[in-house]
Amino acid sequence: MSQPKTIYMDNNATTRVAPEVLETMLPYFSELYGNPSSMHSFGDQVGGAVKKARQQVADLLGAQPEEIIFTSCGTESDSTAIFSALQVAPEKRHIVTTRVEHPAVKNLCENLDRLTGHKHRVTQLPVESDGTLDLKRYEEALADDTAIVSVMWANNETGVIFPIDEMAKIAKSRGILFHTDAVQAVGKIPINLAETPVDFLSVSGHKLHAPKGVGVLYVRKRTPFMPFLMGGHQERGRRGGTENVTSIIGMGKACELAANNMRRENTTVRLLRDKLENGLLKRVPNTLLNGHKEERLPNTTNVSFEYVEGEAILLHLDRYGICASSGSACTSGSLEPSHVLRAMGVPFTAAHGSIRFSLSVYNTEDEVDYILEKLPPVIAKLREMSPFWADRDKIAGGGSCGSCGCGK
Ligand code: PLP
Repeated sequence: MSQPKTIYMDNNATTRVAPEVLETMLPYFSELYGNPSSMHSFGDQVGGAVKKARQQVADLLGAQPEEIIFTSCGTESDSTAIFSALQVAPEKRHIVTTRVEHPAVKNLCENLDRLTGHKHRVTQLPVESDGTLDLKRYEEALADDTAIVSVMWANNETGVIFPIDEMAKIAKSRGILFHTDAVQAVGKIPINLAETPVDFLSVSGHKLHAPKGVGVLYVRKRTPFMPFLMGGHQERGRRGGTENVTSIIGMGKACELAANNMRRENTTVRLLRDKLENGLLKRVPNTLLNGHKEERLPNTTNVSFEYVEGEAILLHLDRYGICASSGSACTSGSLEPSHVLRAMGVPFTAAHGSIRFSLSVYNTEDEVDYILEKLPPVIAKLREMSPFWADRDKIAGGGSCGSCGCGK
């Protein structure tokens, strides 16, 4: 059998480098290889290109170029923001975050005591069954010794968008620093930091058609700041290390493209996503949507096919060349559903069968139609083999999860 064409719908995991981005980067690998810090004009032209990229990023975010620090990834940006807040006010040992953060924030917060040698209180806000946050609970969680709030702008698994504008304003009124991991939001929904008063915001290049290995940390002017990487004077002394010039230039171009594509994300991509989602919900019985229907990224859908294993679905999709993600990780051997679906209280019979499709401007209607043709028979076949499907009337309502210790 010939290898099927790849249908890539895993853009929340990573994206293809846009051809225009690659083209912009190429000369800086070959003839324009200078160091932007050099005094000679050969290095200076590269410095000019980095300056342009900084402006392109700032324009997408509604920020000033001086507020942009280039980093190596979203994870570094998250760590830098949180460690900085803890260092500038060492007497403050409380952090507010959520139960559904990406591991880049979640694991850091859960390991702070070990990493800093100090005791910290971390409040991980719960979410509702549709993945949204209760703002009253958030306000109640803020304390006099809260050093920083770190809440993602949009969830990578469900696409659910949090009310960052309101949350940042509340933190500001209490004099508390606010960080948002906007890795999934940037380029998909409009962001204007001239109006939304966050202190720190993280971006990752490879989620918006720039290369892997480049990120951005936005730091609002006059926000007290301590660098994470100490070294040379690069990035105005806020992040040591010779700049990853080619990727930074790619990041700038990707931000310019994202600004131009924002309308398409919210029209064409959204329509394709909705066609896929509605088609699956209609054609496959016992299928549920995970996450708020409206307060969501336009490119993401997370659906649960009850009584089947997500990993098995992915293997079948892979044979058709279809790339997606599942909400359970059986690589650990535990078949534990994701922490996001657990926090939402998704019953185990649904959490184990969750699949995330995340689209981009490169997807087409033909690809959606192909998935709608291939996936329903896969689910039917897997259900025929599933003991849970056979016993579904006995375990209706979700039952309790004996297999993974998730407490559901
Ligand atoms: N934050 C979120 C919400 C993400 O989805 C990811 C990557 O999946 C990251 C942070 C980490 O970004 P990076 O891979 O650039 O470190």
